[in-house]
Amino acid sequence: MRAAIFRKPGQALDIDTIDDPVPARGEFILKVEACGICGSDLHISDNHDGSGGMPPLKPDSVMGHEFCGEIVAIGPDTPTDLREGQRVTALPTIGCGTCAQCLSGDVRRCRTAKGIGLGDVPGGYAEYVRVGAAESMPLPAHFGKADGALIEPLAVGLRAAVRARLQPGDSVLIIGAGPVGLATAIWCRHFGARHVVVSDLNANRAAMAAKFGATDAIDARKENVVERFKAIAGGRPDVTFDCVGVPGSMQLAIDYAAFDSKVVIVGVCMHLDQVLPVKPVTKELDLIFAYCYLRQEFQLCIDMLDQGRIEAAGLITDRVGFGTFAEAFEALKTPNTQVKVMLEPDRI
Ligand SMILES: [Zn+2]
Ligand SMILES: [Zn+2]
Repeated sequence: MRAAIFRKPGQALDIDTIDDPVPARGEFILKVEACGICGSDLHISDNHDGSGGMPPLKPDSVMGHEFCGEIVAIGPDTPTDLREGQRVTALPTIGCGTCAQCLSGDVRRCRTAKGIGLGDVPGGYAEYVRVGAAESMPLPAHFGKADGALIEPLAVGLRAAVRARLQPGDSVLIIGAGPVGLATAIWCRHFGARHVVVSDLNANRAAMAAKFGATDAIDARKENVVERFKAIAGGRPDVTFDCVGVPGSMQLAIDYAAFDSKVVIVGVCMHLDQVLPVKPVTKELDLIFAYCYLRQEFQLCIDMLDQGRIEAAGLITDRVGFGTFAEAFEALKTPNTQVKVMLEPDRI
């Protein structure tokens, strides 16, 4: 099969042919319909020395953890109700399927969990991908080709809103209008936030947030974020989300937050960072972290999209085939206005 292969940091992905994956017991092979490019893949592919809390990616790895596809093979003796031909998306993790964590949907915490697209199991930047049967969820027939690949980033935003214990009527500030920030905006609106304000240093990006549930956008390069937020919402935010994850962004969220409010760290910063503790201490902030999602959160994203209760297709700003995939991947490492770029392996 064709796949986009990571050779070494600083080198463009290599489109080459590798062996087709073979499913073990409890696994499916999916024919990949679409796989989204994630910011963490861009990070990891440039991680030269394994610093920043992430092991360096092994040479010849295949990344890609935001995918959907059709079941084309089922491992021997796999207990499942799903059949070949079914379109699914899957958690990018293969669990043991029997421990308490797996059974509760929290496959992240399974002691033998294998990550898909992050070194353990080759990912979805390929024609075929191996996934866990227990971690696969059927997609509605009316879903467009890449809709199922949006479930993973949507679930990241859902997890952020869940962790924030968002209350109806909350005023929310989301720092960063990338895919994570926009997915968070979608869910904050869904759960009844009164003001969903997205700020970004790129005015176009911030403005785009209005399509995804944001009630207002702040151009953080030109405007004073706190003053503008107060003008919109009548006070500082009840919940401030850091959806950027670079050194300094956590401090910004803390600085913007109201007394006795919540700050939710969603962006994954892989560098040492400093915060001035006097700020969160004197404000008595609840500092909350959000990471990945549970299986049932994935399923809720599918159901809400299925019922038309959230709108997400506009997150996809480009679709590429293997012919231009490596270029498209590199282009995302410099400032751009893309939100989600999808690899669709059957494109030229
Ligand atoms: Zn991702
Ligand atoms: Zn397990």
